[in-house]
Amino acid sequence: MGVFVNVKSFGSRHAAVSTSVLPAVLGADMNVPLADGTMAPFANFDHAATAPCLEAVADAVNTFLPWYTSTHRGAGTLSAICTAKYEESRITVRQFIGCRPDDHLVFTRNTTDALNMLARIVPEDTTTIVFAHEHHAGLLPWRDVRTLPIQSDVDGVLTALDGALAEIGAKALVVVTGATNVTGELLPLEELVAITHRHGARIAVDAAQLVAHRPIDMTALDVDYLAFSGHKLYAPFGIGVLAGRSDWFVAAEPYLRGGGATVNVGDDPRDVEWSLGVPRHEAGTPNVIGAVALAAACETVRTAWDSLIPYESVLLTRLRTGLAEIPEVNELSLFGLTEDRIGIVSFTVDGVDPGLLATALSVEYGIGLRQGRFCAHPLTRHLLRKSGTPGSETAVRASLGLGVDVAKVDRLVDAIRTISEIGLRMLYVTQDGTWWPTAVSVSSHDAGSVH
Ligand code: PLP
Repeated sequence: MGVFVNVKSFGSRHAAVSTSVLPAVLGADMNVPLADGTMAPFANFDHAATAPCLEAVADAVNTFLPWYTSTHRGAGTLSAICTAKYEESRITVRQFIGCRPDDHLVFTRNTTDALNMLARIVPEDTTTIVFAHEHHAGLLPWRDVRTLPIQSDVDGVLTALDGALAEIGAKALVVVTGATNVTGELLPLEELVAITHRHGARIAVDAAQLVAHRPIDMTALDVDYLAFSGHKLYAPFGIGVLAGRSDWFVAAEPYLRGGGATVNVGDDPRDVEWSLGVPRHEAGTPNVIGAVALAAACETVRTAWDSLIPYESVLLTRLRTGLAEIPEVNELSLFGLTEDRIGIVSFTVDGVDPGLLATALSVEYGIGLRQGRFCAHPLTRHLLRKSGTPGSETAVRASLGLGVDVAKVDRLVDAIRTISEIGLRMLYVTQDGTWWPTAVSVSSHDAGSVH
């Protein structure tokens, strides 16, 4: 039986969302050991790193596994079925992101792989424009790149991009994240696309974070390229996607050289006719299980947006409101605390090292979240300076998704409040940034670090 929560939902609709209508994920009821020898239900707040596996994904993979064999090679019946399933999965994923009919959709390993592929197919005379706020996957792969400074409001982003494009002109590729992985804040994609296209340039969206939280339609948005990972969309098995305008894919050297990407190889192996279609950039044996998993995730999430978005909105409001009531908590924010965002909250707690905090939440409370600089070092440093906690080089990040419920959010907020007001229950040692509990604290106020 699901639990009903009242929702001031996405947009201005009010709704009541039952947890029973939400797609189920594996591991949501997992118990984990605590440092004091007891067990606690695990509360997973690390969806922005990797989301749990949807039950529907596990079912689809298990149903398919008996049929599993070679894909796009092999004449047997099962090979034909695997090949058909792989291509069927591609169609499902295309529909999920609203590809145009002539777009290519290439399966990759993950978003990092997809953006590196994009960097390889960008024509040589084209400059890539990125903001320094990007995740490293969007920041680092480019050959000829103009990096724009981090902006503190949305207007600043639009103006900076307009200015850079006015200088560089049409031979530019803008690469921007749909939602930052540090604060969850949304980038103004419609405006960014409009500005980019006004200058005759192209734009790629890193949808690694956005894809599990908001519907994306490449055609409606008129975005040229889109990259994302299956594992952040509840589909493990090592798959990602790069989709977009076919001409750059066709003109570029194959991303990997090898079997599957060729039409014919002559007696002299330098005499190669490369495929002009999608296989050009999918050399090697395809990840058919990954494709099946991703297609199942796309189907499941596509039919659940109406409950998923408002449900997450309730959890996010509850989490942020709860944290805001704790004076020691500083939430990080790029454009301001009232800007629209997906379910990601990064913060510091005065007087508690973020690494220690994350360890204590895990071993004392059974709560899993991420601490560090989130593979977005320039952005995290910028946000820490801006939040008035420059002494801290890292933060903790709680990220939401399926499997999180109101009770788990309350447990997280209560744990942070207890740690802030009373202290830690254990004594800890640290080496090279890693923390371990050593003993139960005699007095909570004495608890904390032993160096
Ligand atoms: N882009 C963003 C915004 C991300 O948050 C991440 C991962 O956290 C990536 C790219 C890289 O994704 P992956 O590690 O799946 O390649």
